[in-house]
Amino acid sequence: MKTLIDAIKSLKTTVSNVLRPVATVEFPAVIRVRAPRYRASFALTNDEHGELSCVACQACEKICPSGVIKVKSGGKRESPATGKKRQYSDEFTLDLAACIQCELCVQVCNSDAIIMVREPEQPVYRREDLVLDLDRLRANARERTAAWGTGSVLQAMQESKPRAEPKAKEEKPRVEAKPAEEPKAPAAAEGVT
Ligand code: SF4
Ligand code: SF4
Repeated sequence: MKTLIDAIKSLKTTVSNVLRPVATVEFPAVIRVRAPRYRASFALTNDEHGELSCVACQACEKICPSGVIKVKSGGKRESPATGKKRQYSDEFTLDLAACIQCELCVQVCNSDAIIMVREPEQPVYRREDLVLDLDRLRANARERTAAWGTGSVLQAMQESKPRAEPKAKEEKPRVEAKPAEEPKAPAAAEGVT
């Protein structure tokens, strides 16, 4: 009898869920409205001369807690746009598969070169396809919507944050040193004079 009651209860739960409105969407065909600060992937921007902003300083590579950024440069060379010598990143990869979206790479970039974008990458079958290279990152800057944060914006926010006052050190109660006890004379052995 108890088994029958349990079966009816579970059937009731199943039927009530079947009638509920669908809570999921068919991503990526349907994309929900994103929060204003939503960010999903990355891009490498150009500077005011139309050249890659990244100067291969490797600050993003060093700060990345997941170690997913690799930047290589062939050294300084003359810029065709300005005639001045500067460094370029000749190889840049970011493995999105292991990125934790902390945005530290964006925050440390003094050139505002690496930014995050609002549109996620397309779902893929192979992990290697989530490695964003220089071409893909530059294409993202052209084709996708930049998220609100850049290195200069995030650094300015960090600097304007009031710093917490350091706590006064609590003085530990001083423990008075006990006077050293007089060493006891060994008891005279009986019968010894
Ligand atoms: S993206 Fe920015 S932080 Fe990273 S190597 Fe380029 S200039 Fe440096
Ligand atoms: S957002 Fe991703 S790539 Fe950037 S520092 Fe964080 S883990 Fe590394």
